[in-house]
Amino acid sequence: MRFWTTVILTAGLMSVANLVGSVTPAARAEEQAATAEPPKATAQSAGPLAVPAVSGVPGVPGPYPMDVCPVSGGKLGAMGKPFVLTYEGQEVKLCCPSCETRFRKDPKQYLKKIEQAVIEQEKANYPLKTCVVSNEALDEKTIDLVYQDRLYRVCCTMCVAQFKADPAKYTAKLNEAVVEKEKASYPLEACPISGEKLGHEAVDLVVGDHLVRLCCPKCVEQVKQDPAACLAKLDAAESAAGGAQPATQPAEGEKSKQDEHAGHGH
Ligand SMILES: [Zn+2]
Ligand SMILES: [Zn+2]
Ligand SMILES: [Zn+2]
Repeated sequence: MRFWTTVILTAGLMSVANLVGSVTPAARAEEQAATAEPPKATAQSAGPLAVPAVSGVPGVPGPYPMDVCPVSGGKLGAMGKPFVLTYEGQEVKLCCPSCETRFRKDPKQYLKKIEQAVIEQEKANYPLKTCVVSNEALDEKTIDLVYQDRLYRVCCTMCVAQFKADPAKYTAKLNEAVVEKEKASYPLEACPISGEKLGHEAVDLVVGDHLVRLCCPKCVEQVKQDPAACLAKLDAAESAAGGAQPATQPAEGEKSKQDEHAGHGH
């Protein structure tokens, strides 16, 4: 914008010099201001057009994965409100401010614990049997990758690098897989936020690693503010409705894991 004004101003001054006596500088200045309008308007209208279109299933990060302090191991909340900090983009909840010093001395060690908690929380319900990047079958060499409190399983280090180059792409892919896995056995016909029946405005949202169906975009905003409360409502409704997920019931050996998963505040 400033660039355009400067260019026009210079041109204006040149023509003032050429037309000395016939036009006053003040009148010239007004004229240039009018000339400067069109480029200004063009630059502004480029704004909305530049916003990328949202595609795929929208997602909301899941609830924080630990209910204990990664430093002391003490229950969060037992010593008053947890002390919250963000380290390299990762939210960290400590039991008290004095644990911060220990955290800062060796953040890697404690971040590892949070990662481990995410893996434990999401592994049982993980929707894919293939690498989220390459689509190859997952085997004993599978790498569990944690990104923004979510688990992604990939087949090799090359896929880790590819994931990191475009995490949004693979998040969308994982969200789709969650919807695919959970929609057949989804237990509710009403929005867990409003209690209203799902109609034509209904929105499929992935919260953490779970599908949630909401009646309208307004309810999506509410879930963003408190994803944990939304999942708790879904859980309660699920057990009230009989609790079963027949289509995706895990094998007997995995059942205890699933129960433990449910116990983590989902
Ligand atoms: Zn503490
Ligand atoms: Zn791979
Ligand atoms: Zn709604």
